[in-house]
Amino acid sequence: MADTSVFSKIRAGEIPGEIVHETERVFVLRDIAPKAPVHLLVVPKTEQYRNVGELAAGDPDLLAEVIAVAGEVADGDFRLIFNTGEDAGQTVFHVHAHVLAGGLTEGSLG
Ligand code: 5GP
Repeated sequence: MADTSVFSKIRAGEIPGEIVHETERVFVLRDIAPKAPVHLLVVPKTEQYRNVGELAAGDPDLLAEVIAVAGEVADGDFRLIFNTGEDAGQTVFHVHAHVLAGGLTEGSLG
């Protein structure tokens, strides 16, 4: 499948964006519209999976890597969000984890 998502375009250098970390299978970029002091997106390099459900079913090891990398780049306490489907606010259908960190004591879901 051609790499056509906005995240893949950033990775390819076709549009601007700040990639802050990379492993063999995932990359991490800074969200253009941060919702927290730290707001990163952990993205598998493959575009094969549109959402976290597809990723869990198709490649659980890759999902585990996304989560592990989220913990590494957060460098402290963090919130992990996978918007799944349009009605949940998903706008980019290339699976990605939102890592929110840095002063999240307001607005806890708990
Ligand atoms: P979703 O709504 O699909 O869960 O998340 C997509 C995220 O991608 C949003 O938080 C949005 O701000 C971010 N985003 C969309 N376009 C760009 C872009 O061109 N550059 C960067 N760095 N982030 C983007």
